[in-house]
Parts: sequence; C-alpha cells; structure tokens
Amino acid sequence: MDAKTEKSNLIEGATGDWEMVIGMEIHAQVTSNAKLFSGASTEFGGDPNSHVSLVDAAMPGMLPVINEGCVAQAIRTGLGLKAQINLNSVFDRKNYFYPDLPQGYQISQYKNPIVGEGEVIVDLLSGERVIVGIERLHLEQDAGKSLHDQHPQFSYVDLNRSGVALMEIVSKPDLRSSEQARAFVSKVRTILRYLGTCDGNMEQGSLRADVNVSVRRPGDEFGTRCEIKNVNSIRFIGQAIEYEARRQIEILEDGGEIHQETRLFDAKTGETRSMRSKEEAHDYRYFPDPDLLPLELTQAFVDDLAKDLPELPDEKRARFIAEYGLTPYDADVLVSERESVDYFEAVAKGRDAKQAANWVINELFGRLNKEGGTIVDSPVTADQLGAIVDLIKSGTISGKIAKDVFDIVWTEGGDPAEIVEARGLKQVTDTGAIEKAVDEVIAANPDKVEQAKEKPALIGWFVGQVMKATQGKASPQAVNELLKAKLGID
Ligand code: ADP
Ligand code: MG
Repeated sequence: MDAKTEKSNLIEGATGDWEMVIGMEIHAQVTSNAKLFSGASTEFGGDPNSHVSLVDAAMPGMLPVINEGCVAQAIRTGLGLKAQINLNSVFDRKNYFYPDLPQGYQISQYKNPIVGEGEVIVDLLSGERVIVGIERLHLEQDAGKSLHDQHPQFSYVDLNRSGVALMEIVSKPDLRSSEQARAFVSKVRTILRYLGTCDGNMEQGSLRADVNVSVRRPGDEFGTRCEIKNVNSIRFIGQAIEYEARRQIEILEDGGEIHQETRLFDAKTGETRSMRSKEEAHDYRYFPDPDLLPLELTQAFVDDLAKDLPELPDEKRARFIAEYGLTPYDADVLVSERESVDYFEAVAKGRDAKQAANWVINELFGRLNKEGGTIVDSPVTADQLGAIVDLIKSGTISGKIAKDVFDIVWTEGGDPAEIVEARGLKQVTDTGAIEKAVDEVIAANPDKVEQAKEKPALIGWFVGQVMKATQGKASPQAVNELLKAKLGID
C-alpha cells in the first residue's frame, strides 16, 4: 500500500476492497475590475453584452493587452499555495469551436504556466491531516455563455464573461476520499478568500471544479480516470465522487473496463453521465499566441507581492494554538472562513483571546447554527460581543447574566453596558445583600443544613437557591465563600 492509503478510506466491493484516487482542477475567477486582456468590466449580473470590448468580441485585428493586476493576483495565489513562481511563462492558443467562443480559441497557458508545484495542508474533522500536492496554476480566459431560454427558436450568446481572467489550479492525484476532496476545495477557497484573489462564490460560478476520479485495488497502479466537469458546490463534489467511484467499481467487478471520458454531474439525480470521450491535448493544436510576448517577471516584482501577503489560515491556526492556547479544533473553526476570523480577531483584540474564542464559538456560532445563519448575518457585532466580554472581565456581570445580555443584544440590539445599567443586571458584590439572602436560605432549610455537614457537595444546591433568590445577580464567588463559612464546610 502507498503511504496515503488508509484502511478507513477503502470501499468494500463485492470482490474485495477498492481505493479511490482523486485529482481536482479548480477554476477560480480572478478578483479584478477588468478582464485578462481587455479593459472591459468583470461585474456580475449586467445586461447581456453590456461588458464587452472589441477584444472580447474577437473583432478582426484587435490585440490583447495583458492586465498586470490579474498577473499579480495569480502570483499572490501561487505564493499562498506555497508554490514555485515561474519568472517566464507563455500564453498559448487552445483551439476549439464553440458558439460562446468568438475567437475560435481560448488564450491559456499550456507547457509553461505562471505557477508550478506547491502544496496545500488539509485538516479533517477527524484530526487526519493530508498534504495535497499542487501540480500547477495557470491563467486563462473564460468563455461567454449561450442562452437557450430567451427565444423559442434561437439561442443567444452573452459575452459579458468572455475574456474574464480565470486561474486553473490543478492538484496532484493525492486525494483518497470524497471527504478529503471536499475539505481540499474548501481549504483552497479559504486561502483564495484570505488573499482576496477570488471571491470563491460557487453559486455565481466564480469557483467551480472538474473532478477526476479513478479506483484501484490498494497498492496497485492508478486506474483509468473519468473527469466530471464543472461541479459547482462542495456538496455536489462529494456526491459526484461517491457516485462515480461506485459506478466504476461496479463495471470493474463485472469484468468491464473504464474508458477515459468527460462526464457531467446531474444534481437532481445525484448521478454522473457521459458527455464525451476524453479529448487529448493534441486535439486543441496548442501553439504560443503570436499576439502576446512571453510573460517575463522580475524576482523583485514577486518579492514585493510576497512581502504584502496577508497572514494565511495555516499560520493563523498555528498562532492561535501557540499564542492563545486554543485547541486545534477551535482554531480550525475560527480560521476556516475569513469573515469568522476577522470577527474573532476584532473581539479578541486587547482582551483574553481564549475567552473571546469561547464566546464566538459557543454562544455566537452556536446560535447562528441553531437559527441557520452565517457570521455575516450575525445580529450581534464584534464590538457588542467584545463589550459583553468586558463586562464579565470587570466583574460587572456574571457569566450567566452575560448570556442573558447576549440574548437581549441578539433579539433587540443595543449597547451591552447600557442594557445592564437600565435593567439592573449588575452583579451584586455588596456582601451585606448577599449575606441576607444566604441567611434566609439557611434559615428556611434546616434539614439540608444538617445533611450538608455529611455531604459537602450539597453546597451546590445552596448556591443555586441563593442565585435564584438574587435573580442570578449575586457574585457566585462571594456566595460560595459565605456559604462555606456559614455551613462550616472547607
Ligand atoms: P489533462 O490535462 O488531460 O486534464 P492532467 O495530467 O492535467 O490531465 O490531470 C488532470 C487532473 O487529473 C489532475 O488533477 C490530476 O491530479 C488528475 N489525475 C491524473 N491521473 C489520475 C488518476 N489516475 N485518477 C484520478 N485523478 C487523476
Ligand atoms: Mg486538464
């Protein structure tokens, strides 16, 4: 078995165990105002053909001009993927006919991509860690879109997307389960979002993946793969892989063989179906685009971009564990979305980071999960949550009352300190008042007082009664101390 094979990932067939082998090609739309070779806008959702320059429409004699901003984004992404940046790369023409491709070719990079080998660390919920190799990242143009639902007889073409810059990120065939594949795409998406090089919006198609799947007997050579094109959600990626691996196993166990082909995933049935037999590179007659010079970068340009890279999820995770003492699980939960980590860091700034993490994860995420929202929908801002943490820290409110304040801010909004003041929620630290409550509880329960002498754990019951009598406002520490003294427990 090779080092990556894990017993738990094997699939049981009728004739023995099988292992999936998966490699991904992720297409990520570059965050940029203008297209890769023209100044037209990349804005999503404009009227059809409202963002199209003469270059995008492939008018004869038009010349592409490389957009430096898109090049910088590809380099920054390469750096984020810990990959080799190639100072020399070449744009090629990939020739094919499609109605939404007016040039008759796509400008892409073939033999000499801008980014070479790298790696992505993927941590699974189970604690399993997989290091996934990156084969390459290249820049290419997106195509337009055929519209089939605008007219009963005709199809129309919308070229708004034509010429928009895409990064194609190709992984090595290092993934061994659908869970790993899903986690890999999530991780890449997170890295792109931290970098601000792709918005990662799969619903709008800014990020989509081609999924390559094959199966083999553990320890055997790789089998023949099928490629499932353009899967546009993480959940569908998982479903497509599960279906496809089982389909291939069934064929092989029946004595058949797998033919390399391109397939489509049908989200309605959860199945994949054949689209065409696999095309080969030579079908595209790649050649260097004579309208574009090879792309030459200086090391200084790359170094400048490297200097300004933000702190990425792996580094943040490591820092949260080492500096803040968070568990790996909590650190993972916080760094997995850029919005979550920004929120957490705003709450943690100048405060006890571990306590901030507890509030963000347990109270805030807990509530968001329950009510089906994400961090961007949070009715409680980072400033408000920070103010609640401050009120606990200063001893103004107890942890228990803090949860009530959180609930009030969640449902009604408002300033936590003012809410505490206006509703009289301040913790009672005045020992006179607490003592009175303690005395009353003791006087009313002589039998329990007797029992507590034998069973000191009963003090918990007394604390509960006093807290109830003071509507939760007594300082639990003061109550404890007074009770211990009065009940003679040490
Ligand atoms: P092509 O250019 O024909 O698409 P590549 O060599 O670029 O082929 O590979 C495309 C993707 O297929 C990569 O993500 C790679 O990891 C994956 N891949 C290659 N071989 C296999 C295999 N036997 N099983 C599953 N995935 C594979
Ligand atoms: Mg490919």
